Parts: sequence; structure tokens; C-alpha cells
Amino acid sequence: MEKRNGLRVILFPLPLQGCINPMLQLANILHSRGFSITVIHTRFNAPKASSHPLFTFLQISDGLSESQINDAPTSNVMSLLAQINCSTESPFRDCLRKLLVESQESEKISCLIDDCGWLFTQSVSESLNLPRLVLCTFKATFLNAYPILPLLRTKYLHVSASEAEDPVLEFPPLQKRDISRIFGKEGEKLDPVLRIVVETTIRSSGLIFMSCEELEKDSLTLAKEIYKVPIFAIGPFHSYFSASSSSLFKQDETCIPWLDNQEDKSVIYVSLGSVVNITETEFLDIACGLSNSKHPFLWVVRPGLVLGAKWIEPLSEGIMRSLEEKGKIVKWAPQQEVLAHRAIGGFLTHNGWNSTLESICEGVPMICLPGGLDQMLNSRFVSDIWRVGIHSEGRIEKNEIEKAVKMLMVESEGEKIRERLKFLKDEVARSVKHGD
Ligand code: UDP
Repeated sequence: MEKRNGLRVILFPLPLQGCINPMLQLANILHSRGFSITVIHTRFNAPKASSHPLFTFLQISDGLSESQINDAPTSNVMSLLAQINCSTESPFRDCLRKLLVESQESEKISCLIDDCGWLFTQSVSESLNLPRLVLCTFKATFLNAYPILPLLRTKYLHVSASEAEDPVLEFPPLQKRDISRIFGKEGEKLDPVLRIVVETTIRSSGLIFMSCEELEKDSLTLAKEIYKVPIFAIGPFHSYFSASSSSLFKQDETCIPWLDNQEDKSVIYVSLGSVVNITETEFLDIACGLSNSKHPFLWVVRPGLVLGAKWIEPLSEGIMRSLEEKGKIVKWAPQQEVLAHRAIGGFLTHNGWNSTLESICEGVPMICLPGGLDQMLNSRFVSDIWRVGIHSEGRIEKNEIEKAVKMLMVESEGEKIRERLKFLKDEVARSVKHGD
């Protein structure tokens, strides 16, 4: 058992899979360095305390009704988070105050670490005289753009076809057509959120990134200039501790024996993460594209992924039969283990930051199908800067999917992508070793 240092850290993750994973990985990193850990969390998407017996978990009320929690897989995540941000402030303050009082008789609480998406925690920690560190679970380049995103949104609201591929000079490597897709339909609602995140991060005691200089040296330097706080870039967190134990969904473990029966680098893994939704037409196009590519595939179809459907019922018996010949569909996979499997040769991904990092670290080249937000940026880095993947350019269309899978898995372009990725993977691995 590691030596304890008599200090406790309070963690408060945003209740989304892509935010809970890095926060609990960070908890493990800190615990291995001697800190005791308390995790405050909402009822909605509560982490499984039983998977982390060394940490203390405290649940606070989030104000969501039973039906809101049940409908969450198909709801607008942004509006859910906005509501939780309003209703959680008071219970969070009470909980933190109580912990600080209790700590006077036991371990000292050294700081609060919470997600930059919490809008009230800086004020609460200031009022209780507790230093707050901000965890950013996406690429620093994206956080650096927060101060100018509202401006870019209005500037590039309407982009003509002829200028769609032009670079956004204020926000490279984005193209003009990417900007409106970052925000979705109700972009203006995000403006005040972005402003508060910038203001509260500047007032914080420091910023933690799951990133490294090998991936974004200039952005990390710029983050220090913009936010004027100490920056801690400690590499991809999953390189230290797997995300598996913080999974909110039941992982289908049959993926691994299925992969064991496949040839090396022959399988395309398909997953669009925990939040993205697609239409039924897009879903059927992905199905036909995969089937027509004739490559084995492992496809995560999260219940609620397809708008208007419970799970995979839009697939006709005919398509289902042809899919089953080559592939396997599951509701949720042990992704990190899957990407590390020798049989995986490519990843059709939405480019969430966790998935992008996991793919780079396992040396799995990508087909980029971003759904919005920072995924638009990550996918441009993957396809245009690091050149370790193929961009779908928003075309979720069966012929395009088939073409991209073939290009990645069998053509010479795929080979070149694989070589570049091997180089990037080694660079990132070195950063993790240095930071040990
Ligand atoms: N994940 C998983 N099983 C799946 C799909 C995803 O364990 O079937 C994990 C994945 O490894 C990653 C996280 O869920 O750690 C998704 O985070 P990401 O930032 O990629 O996307 P988000 O879900 O936030 O859009």
C-alpha cells in the first residue's frame, strides 16, 4: 500500500462519461502519489463507488426528475448540464463546507479539482478559502478558443459553398464549414457559458490538461498566457490508469473473445462515444457502408444513439443477416482493451478527446466522423495536422463509409497513415515516461 501524505483532494466530475473517466483516472494518479480522495458527484450518471473502494464518494442532489434521468440518452446534453449547473450549487456548497469542517479534525483538504464545465465552483471555493484546480477534459487548443468562439459563431454563421473549405485564420486548423457544426442549432445559448468558463478559469489556481507538449506545445504555452495560471499537462491519463473501471454502462466483454478469432489488424472498430446522436438514415448508411466494405467490424450502438429508436430495430432482417456475416454489434465495449487488441486495424470515431487519445496511444488509425463541439477540432488535427486519419467531411453516406474503410484498411494511403501514427504514438509514449 502506497504511503499516505495526510492530504485529501476533493474531486467533482461533470456527469458525463467523457468527463468522469479522466477525473477518476486523475483520482487514481493522485492516490498513487499519496493523496486521499473524496469524489462529490450528482445522482445523474453517478460513478460506481464499488469499482473504486479506496475513494470516498458523496452524492449530492442534482434537481433532475426521474423521467429526465431516464430520457437522458436522447436528450440535449447541453440543456441538461445547464439545469444541473443551476440546481447543484447549493447542495455542493453545503457538502464542501461540511467536509472542510470535518477535515479540521482529520486530514487537511488541499484543494478542489473540478471540471471546467462547472460554472459555480470557483465562487464556492473562493468563499470557503479552498484553492481550486480546473480539469479540462478536451484539447487545450479548444479551451484557448473559448474567448473568441462567440465572435467566430456569428462571423461564420452563413458560409457559402465556395468558401466552406477556407481556413479559419483565427482558429487553425478549422475550416469555415466547421464553425457552425461546433455549436449546433442553439449556439447562442453557449455564449454566456463560454464567458463564465473563461472568467472562472482565470480566477482559479491552475489548469490540468490530459495532454502533452508532443500533441500541442504551442497551445499549452498559449493557455498559460490566456488564463494566467499554472498549467499541468500530464499526458493521456489512460496511459496511467484504464478508463474501464469508471464505465457508466455495462461493458460487453464478449468483444474480446470475438476479436481473438479475427486476423491481425483486420477489424474496424466503430463507436461514436457516449453523447453523439445520429439519424436513422445515417445509422442505416453506416450499416450498409460497413457491410459493403467486406471488412470485419465491431460496432458499438449505444441504446439511444439513433434518434427515435431504442437500439438497432431500424435494421431490417436482410441488413442484419449481412452484418452478422462479418461483424459484431454491442451496446457498449471495453474500448481501451478493444483498441489495444492486435485484431483492430482502424477506428471509425466521433473524435471525442478521450477516444482520440486512446486511439493514438494504441496506434490505431482513424476515420473521423465528428458530431460537433471540440470533436470538430480534434478531427482536423487527426486528419490535417498529424495526418493519422481520414476525415469524412460530414458525409455519413454508405459509399463514403465503404470507401474510407477500404482506404484505411487496404490501400497504400492507409499504410502511410499507419507509419505516421507509429511515430506520433512513440512521441506521446515518451512524454508519459518523462512525466512519471
Ligand atoms: N467508451 C467505452 N466504451 C464504448 C465507447 C466509449 O468505454 O463502447 C469510453 C471511451 O474509452 C472514452 C469514453 O468512453 O474513454 C468516451 O469519451 P470521449 O471523450 O471519447 O467521447 P464522449 O463520450 O465524451 O463524446
